[in-house]
Amino acid sequence: MNRSEPPASTGPQAQEARPAAERPRAEAAEPRRVLKQHGLRYSRPREVILGYLLEEDRHVSAESLYMDLRQRGEELSLSTVYLNLAALAEAGLVREFKSPNGLSVYDSNVSPHYHVVCRDTGEVLDVPAPEIDGVPLGRYLKEYVERLTGWEVDEPRFSFTGRSAAEARAAEGSGEG
Ligand SMILES: [Zn+2]
Repeated sequence: MNRSEPPASTGPQAQEARPAAERPRAEAAEPRRVLKQHGLRYSRPREVILGYLLEEDRHVSAESLYMDLRQRGEELSLSTVYLNLAALAEAGLVREFKSPNGLSVYDSNVSPHYHVVCRDTGEVLDVPAPEIDGVPLGRYLKEYVERLTGWEVDEPRFSFTGRSAAEARAAEGSGEG
């Protein structure tokens, strides 16, 4: 089904946070091709793991990915899942980040973005990184600090915690602050 194009962007507000499921995923159907493009040998575990991650935007721990795939009848060990997630991350096909509770989480959205995490439900929303002088904020800050210090530094990683729109509405309705 064709959806009409959104109006052309007119300013810095054009990039809004969208529920993950609404972002286009052109590559979702072709994990095999994507693996090859990134120089990764095609293997069944990699195809299965990447296919799962590309089905929709996911933020999953290795353990929950493992359990979901086992439930689908895939014969994978947890260590296979760990090893192949690491390979996919190395190739830039998934991104690893730490959740607020310190858990390692894998993200199928590899474009520059930040996470806002609901402190009530743990829901994670992707927010596109704003750009400064045409450069995503994280890279801009990295280069800024490198210019100031002469050090070689990593891109800063940060996320936001808060309350999802739905939770905020629910709390308002119940009179909770
Ligand atoms: Zn994300």
